[in-house]
Amino acid sequence: MAKEINHWCVVCGKGYHACDTCDEIKSFTPWRALTDTPEHYKLFLVLKQFNNKLIDKDEAKAMLANIDLTGRESFKESAKNVLDEIFKDELVARKTSKKKPVKTEDVEVEVESTKSEESDTEE
Ligand SMILES: [Zn+2]
Repeated sequence: MAKEINHWCVVCGKGYHACDTCDEIKSFTPWRALTDTPEHYKLFLVLKQFNNKLIDKDEAKAMLANIDLTGRESFKESAKNVLDEIFKDELVARKTSKKKPVKTEDVEVEVESTKSEESDTEE
C-alpha cells in the first residue's frame, strides 16, 4: 500500500503523506500539514518566531539547542537561511577571536626581528 505523497516538509523539503481530513477531525496540532516530523515542526516554529521577531537570536539558539538539526545541510534554502542568520554572530565571533591572537603574535615577531636585524627586515 503505497501512500501518496501530498505534503512537503517546510523545513527539509522531504515529501510525505498526511491526511488533512484526519488531522482536522482529531483536532491535533496540525504539524503533519507542515512538516514530516514533530522535530521539524518544533524547528519550524522557532524559525517562524524568529522571523516574526517574537524571539531574538539568543532565545532562538536556546530553543534550537533542544532540537535535532540532523540533515541541516539539506534543509530547504528558506530554513537554512534563517538558521544561518541565527548562528551568524556566533560564527563571526569565533572567527574574530581566533584571528586576534595570531595577529598579535605576528606583530610581536615582526617587532622583535626589526629590533635585532633592522637592515634585513626593512623592505
Ligand atoms: Zn522535515
